Amino acid sequence: MAKRPYVSFAEIKEKVPIPDVLATLGIAERFARKGDSLTGVCPLPGHQHGPCPNPEQFKINRKDGVWLWHCFGDCQIGGDVIELVKQMTGFDNSHVRFWFAEKFGDRLSLSNRNGTSKKAEQAEAEDEVEKDTARTDLPKEDAAQAAPIAPSNLPEEPAPLKPLRFHLNLDLDVDYLRKRGLTPETIQRYRLGLCRRGVLKDYVAIPMFGPNQPPDENPVAYLGRWPGDDHDEAAGKPRYKWPEGFPKSRVLYGLREALAGPSNSPLLVVEGPFDVYHVVQAGFPATVAVLGSALSDEQAALLAATGRKLVLLFDGDEAGQAGMRLAAGKLITRAWVRVVKLPEGKQPDQIPAEELQAILAFN
Ligand SMILES: [Zn+2]
Repeated sequence: MAKRPYVSFAEIKEKVPIPDVLATLGIAERFARKGDSLTGVCPLPGHQHGPCPNPEQFKINRKDGVWLWHCFGDCQIGGDVIELVKQMTGFDNSHVRFWFAEKFGDRLSLSNRNGTSKKAEQAEAEDEVEKDTARTDLPKEDAAQAAPIAPSNLPEEPAPLKPLRFHLNLDLDVDYLRKRGLTPETIQRYRLGLCRRGVLKDYVAIPMFGPNQPPDENPVAYLGRWPGDDHDEAAGKPRYKWPEGFPKSRVLYGLREALAGPSNSPLLVVEGPFDVYHVVQAGFPATVAVLGSALSDEQAALLAATGRKLVLLFDGDEAGQAGMRLAAGKLITRAWVRVVKLPEGKQPDQIPAEELQAILAFN
């Protein structure tokens, strides 16, 4: 078994002050500090800010030698240094332990996870207790995927994909797209159309472009969407048809179009192309899709490279919410990121425009 550095939560609380964690997360300068007390706008990715975030809402101070924090705004939660890192990253107990060992190992006594030292035993026991009280633990399978991502572990911006040598001639008059509420401007902006022959015969073809591709260049791929609800995987008519072997983890749908707008507007990150169209039509042209509920490391790098503020708006189901927490964890040390919780079971393209505008009233 691989050796893993192991530290006790008690020791972390004693030896790692919250201001040091803020510095490590790269957000120390967002807080006003007077001695052992700090105040600022709440940095937690789950906090839903209004148009004028209150710089007094998030308090940090040291009481009887213990560093504590509390959000008196939207979150109404607080805790110690460990809970802060869990809230900021979405990590579970074992990953958060690993994070502290990696970042602050020089001041903590690390032991082997399989060792029989008293410290390791104590730590295991704490883990059990903490498991019962954890507030936002992911379902087991998601937790297993949630590898601790340090900024240095993320890839650089991936090499751009090559444009196709051909382009499809598409029929722009598509009943299905109109029925789903797409305007002619949206159809034109994303160059959607019905394909009449070849692999995507009778499918709506959704061209995918790299972030910096010039307008006259061919797409890097076409994604097919069956134009109706009578798709049938078994009959070779899946809902979505990807080109074989296409590395979809390396593209963010709509990024080129999103970056064409004002450079100070935040990027909204949704799951699918139809969420993009709907959110764009609701007045947010800087919207991209991860094409599923999981943000890949490459996509995280693409998002971070834009330098934009990021607002995650994944589906309001279990997979979407778990995926959104993992995505926020990957991005938090590299970008300003906020997650927006949609009503239970709803996805962005099912929410009326006015309601979306209210939900997204942030700055
Ligand atoms: Zn808050």
